[in-house]
Amino acid sequence: MAETYDIIIVGCGPAGMTAGIYAARMGLKTVILESGICGGRMINAWEIENYPGYEKISGSELTMKMKAQAEKAGVEIREMTSAVEFKFSNPTKVVVTPDGEEFHAPAVILAMGTSDLELGVPGETEYYGRGISYCATCDGPLYRGKTVFVIGGGNTAAMDALFLANIVEKVYLVHRRDKLRAEQAIADRLMTLPNVEILWNTSLEEVLGDQGVTSVKLHNKKTKKEWTLAADGVFIAVGCKPNSSYCAPVGVNLDDRGNIIIDSHQQTNIAGVYAVGDITGEPRQIVKACGDAVKAVTHWLTVRPTE
Ligand code: NAP
Repeated sequence: MAETYDIIIVGCGPAGMTAGIYAARMGLKTVILESGICGGRMINAWEIENYPGYEKISGSELTMKMKAQAEKAGVEIREMTSAVEFKFSNPTKVVVTPDGEEFHAPAVILAMGTSDLELGVPGETEYYGRGISYCATCDGPLYRGKTVFVIGGGNTAAMDALFLANIVEKVYLVHRRDKLRAEQAIADRLMTLPNVEILWNTSLEEVLGDQGVTSVKLHNKKTKKEWTLAADGVFIAVGCKPNSSYCAPVGVNLDDRGNIIIDSHQQTNIAGVYAVGDITGEPRQIVKACGDAVKAVTHWLTVRPTE
């Protein structure tokens, strides 16, 4: 069974939804395939403060607004529809779902974003879902009045710590260096919170527990101190990896980190195949993802074959 479109977008985060809005408004029959629900990583952001026009908006609200706008523009959004195979060798590109459903179009925009990186410490896999989490906004409310650890020093870790500080008794932010990677405005807010303590130059060595997490083993690389602290939850936020595993086998060029390599029009090395948003690497920002999408769609409109 094959369905034909003017353009297929894979991934319904901010990049994919923006591409959809622009494509549909230009009269293209547009479908977005999304393996889960719309929003990408954005949906888990409890507060977004750098999307112009909104001094503060939650990721879920911004997702709902973008999704509604895309649907109103005429985009067909297929949630819970994974793309597990691409066929890019012919002018007609094919995207295949796990049950064999095929989507055909002359152009594809890859907007699959990224997934959380694992830390790789003992106990991480064992206690996943029993005290270990990669999503503070999803699981944070389970830790009301408790002690949690956030691992990482980037924007995600800092925002997670800010969010959790409103709910839990105590947040330890464990960072391997003596300076946060997070943007200054977020770091400044973090420093003012009385129930957040930053453990600098410190790494998480092991997560210990019984039925669930009970403690964490820590190591300070400057002082060489090793110690254990009681813990109810551990939120790991040590970065992300591009969801590009289905791309290399079909000839899409990736860099050594798995990011899709694009030209100045967001086009990959395959004509008619574009990549936008976080899957193309840093900076990973919503506004940049939206801008990528505009570039991809407008370029396709200038080069596409016309009857
Ligand atoms: P990130 O910016 O790559 O930061 C990852 C953090 O984890 C870094 O502080 C890194 O330490 C640490 N880390 C990495 N591997 C580690 C390990 N093995 N052990 C201990 N610590 C480790 O990732 P992110 O915070 O998930 O953000 C992902 C992207 O989304 C970034 O581009 C970010 O800017 C963006 N984002 C933006 C916002 C926003 O604009 N408000 C919000 C969330 C995410 P080092 O610092 O030492 O490298």
